[in-house]
Amino acid sequence: MILRPAWMERAACRGVDTRAFYANGKHSREQVNAARKICADCPVRPQCAAYAIETGEYYGVWGGMSQQELRQRRRRFTSRAKDDQREAA
Ligand code: SF4
Repeated sequence: MILRPAWMERAACRGVDTRAFYANGKHSREQVNAARKICADCPVRPQCAAYAIETGEYYGVWGGMSQQELRQRRRRFTSRAKDDQREAA
């Protein structure tokens, strides 16, 4: 049994085919935009984005962000964490 965070119970994508969030091929931009429309009204978008960044999710749309946006956000998050570690040392 896989334990899922409680916030996932309130996700707008609950019950939606997960393939809608993992775009590939030549229609990927349309797929990403379709997934983003679902995310736009999601009440747990911040939790979803934080989860994806903290757990290193590499693929898919999370928190309304494309894979590329997620990677950029993760790099900033990692960079900030390293800065914090340096300051604390
Ligand atoms: S933000 Fe998008 S991917 Fe994340 S839980 Fe909500 S609907 Fe699902």
